Amino acid sequence: MRFNIIAGLSLVIAVAAGALVGSISPRASASSSRPLPTPKSKTQPAPASQRYLNFFDGKFDGQEVVKTDAEWKKELAPMEYAVLREAATEAPYTGALTKNHQVGIYYCAACGLAVFSSETKFESGTGWPSFYKALFKENVIEKEDRSIPEEVRTEVECARCHSHLGHVFDDGPEPTGLRYCMNSAALRFKPAK
Ligand SMILES: [Zn+2]
Repeated sequence: MRFNIIAGLSLVIAVAAGALVGSISPRASASSSRPLPTPKSKTQPAPASQRYLNFFDGKFDGQEVVKTDAEWKKELAPMEYAVLREAATEAPYTGALTKNHQVGIYYCAACGLAVFSSETKFESGTGWPSFYKALFKENVIEKEDRSIPEEVRTEVECARCHSHLGHVFDDGPEPTGLRYCMNSAALRFKPAK
């Protein structure tokens, strides 16, 4: 009889404790395990590989793409803006396209004009994507660059949007002897179908 009372009391306490735990813990765990929302910024430009580009494959037709600095800044990733619009040079061996050996066309990463072909790409050992010839001479503008006092260089711009792509040097391979030393960040590659 005495045993039964103690056993009965224990049972009551156990049930009460269980109810208490049951009523508190699910709520506590639910609130702590709920995933936090991923912060999103609408002002962050899409990565170069995803951003919409109005690709143009043929010879430049004279229809220029003109945008303000503010528009370019909004559209381009910071690295792309620095290279394309401020003529910065990316660090060697950092570009995604330097060692790209796929067959296809390289476009201006700002406006989508076709500027180089994989057919003229070669291993220059410089750490930048290098070509011995532009896809069409009409698609690039070459102009004197005296930004480094001790060296007069030839800058290469996209003919359609006047974005900086890189420089051209006269130490390239045959058949042209030219080396178009491009920034990977200034180019978008599209593989041939
Ligand atoms: Zn362009």
